[in-house]
Amino acid sequence: MTQKVLVVEDEMKIARWVREYFEKAGFDVLLAHDGPTGLALARGERPDIMILDIMLPHSPSGEPMDGLDVCRIIRRESDLPIIMLTARAEEVDRLIGLELGADDYVVKPFSPRELVARAKAVLRRVRPTTTREEILRAGHLVVDVTRRTCAYGDEAVELTPTEFELLATLMRHRGRPLTRAQLMDFALGETYIGYERTIDVHIRNLRRKIEPDASNPTYVETVFGVGYRFADEE
Ligand code: CA
Repeated sequence: MTQKVLVVEDEMKIARWVREYFEKAGFDVLLAHDGPTGLALARGERPDIMILDIMLPHSPSGEPMDGLDVCRIIRRESDLPIIMLTARAEEVDRLIGLELGADDYVVKPFSPRELVARAKAVLRRVRPTTTREEILRAGHLVVDVTRRTCAYGDEAVELTPTEFELLATLMRHRGRPLTRAQLMDFALGETYIGYERTIDVHIRNLRRKIEPDASNPTYVETVFGVGYRFADEE
């Protein structure tokens, strides 16, 4: 279940840079460069979260609509999580307060990595994973993300929280190679500080628990020079 982020930002360089980071973090990204387009995409594409710049140009048809207008309109219609991009820290109270109802803000210039971390935090806050039913299956392997259980056939498999997150992350991106940095980011969270090789140790332990033959893994594959991939369906 890939999450979709809508980025409304008129500065192409920033927009592309933000898109790149969200894509690296596994999101689908929609871009809009003016308010009306952003609003149309928010309504039509049902994104999971919106990144919204305050200062936006008039639309191609000349309609003036800045990020504050877009935020106000969206808030009347839905509870789509919104992170505002602002150049001025003093606007912040107004943005997050009742007046506009944005969920968070990032002050420019910002690091895209921080923005992605904020987006993930907002998504966790508004949609706790415990309320969503998510079961991942592959061969004999069943991972119940909601109940945080793992089974191989009829046998329960005891995983550490980190192994569990790694496995769920790999299975959600089935067939797609993920780098160690991505795995650290997805599975261990943005606050985790450590070496990428730590991932190898967790993967080794995980394989011992879920692979019929850990020395010849068929579920969690090594992608040389990249990282790891959950095997695609046969
Ligand atoms: Ca702008």
